[in-house]
Amino acid sequence: MSRTDLSVFKFGGASVKNAEAIRNVVSIIKNNQLGNLVIVVSAIGKYTNALEEVVKTHARGEDGRSLLQKVQSEHYQICLELFGESHQIYDQLNDIFVEADWVLDEPPHESYDYMYDQIVSVGELASSRILNAFLQKNEVGTSWLDARDIVKTDNLYREAWVEWEATDAAAKEKVLPLLEKQLIPVTQGFIGSSSENFTTTLGREGSDYTAAIFSYCLDAKEMVIWKDVPGVLTADPRKFDQVTKLDRLSYREAIEMTYYGAKVIHPKTIKPLQNKSIPLLVKSFIDSKGSGTRISGDVEDKYPPMVAIEEDQALLNISTRDFSFVAEHHLSQLFKLIAEHRLQVHMMQNTAISFAVSVSDIDDRVAQLIKAIEKDFLVQVERGLELITIRHYSKEILKSLQANKVVLLEVRLRNTIQMVVKNVPLMVRKNG
Ligand code: ASP
Ligand code: MG
Repeated sequence: MSRTDLSVFKFGGASVKNAEAIRNVVSIIKNNQLGNLVIVVSAIGKYTNALEEVVKTHARGEDGRSLLQKVQSEHYQICLELFGESHQIYDQLNDIFVEADWVLDEPPHESYDYMYDQIVSVGELASSRILNAFLQKNEVGTSWLDARDIVKTDNLYREAWVEWEATDAAAKEKVLPLLEKQLIPVTQGFIGSSSENFTTTLGREGSDYTAAIFSYCLDAKEMVIWKDVPGVLTADPRKFDQVTKLDRLSYREAIEMTYYGAKVIHPKTIKPLQNKSIPLLVKSFIDSKGSGTRISGDVEDKYPPMVAIEEDQALLNISTRDFSFVAEHHLSQLFKLIAEHRLQVHMMQNTAISFAVSVSDIDDRVAQLIKAIEKDFLVQVERGLELITIRHYSKEILKSLQANKVVLLEVRLRNTIQMVVKNVPLMVRKNG
């Protein structure tokens, strides 16, 4: 198999959100090419969120089964529209959902993250079964592939790290024979397995990353992400009016924007592709003939201003209690603890005796970090903030983004401005 041949297509939850959407995906696949294709699919619609609710409910010691049953019966409803009443898909789905049922039959597992992965993975297992079966019904030669047999990870549940060597070997051993038989493997995004064969997940929205893992290991000629937008836009169209599509983008631009909150692609996706110079196309499943955006290494364009917003930031102001300088040894101690608490640092600045850092406010990690450092440091925290990143900024765009905001921290580099801001209600001056 040479890389001039293989494409990896990734379909996200929105692209398979109901029976009609799944029909559309099948027609995209039929229109594009048959053979030398790997398909990676996310859970249908918003079912990952629904399954997270199942986990939370069970963890509270309440019964999650009715929530799970709702998810299951909605999947059956979609299948009824696609397959009618009698089809093997129902047995396949039963086998998947029963595994989650077993977890709910037990008392909550001591590791929340472990339990999470065992239950939430059901979403991708189910969607991939349905898409696979519907492709076969439409005479496309496919083979359902369990991503857990390929994507090997450590056992950091909910945020597993890929074991590249084992994954690379498994991909070549198990996927190439399918391609040689002219079959299209249909597999799950987001999930993998630990060395003890327990299901792991790669982090929310991780299906893009899965597709990049397959692209890398199989030396794909291209990877395509099918989205509900025409391509990569200069800002999130849900938040901004005047956005334009970028026709081409460098890996570097793409990784900078996605790391700081541009939701269009998972930030981990770019590295494996860049490492093997595999272009990434972002295309619309609504207008599948549209040109989309091509992300690759050979782009030297001038870019318009681009905006990424990361919400739910917490700004920590950390200062020494005894007025000693925040110098290298303090910083290394702080960074070690920040890493141990799995906080993602987005921006920082230090003065003689203080250090400000903006991190993503996930679960109770910030509170745990504060607990760990408050003996030595005075900590003030402000939550509910936004991190705005503007690349290739202009004066006008900067002004418009700062309107009605208090800037708490700002860093300017040659191409980039970043600021942590708080929204303020509009102040209206009283008459007279
Ligand atoms: N279904 C998972 C999630 O919603 C993975 C993905 O969509 O990429 O996070
Ligand atoms: Mg999803």
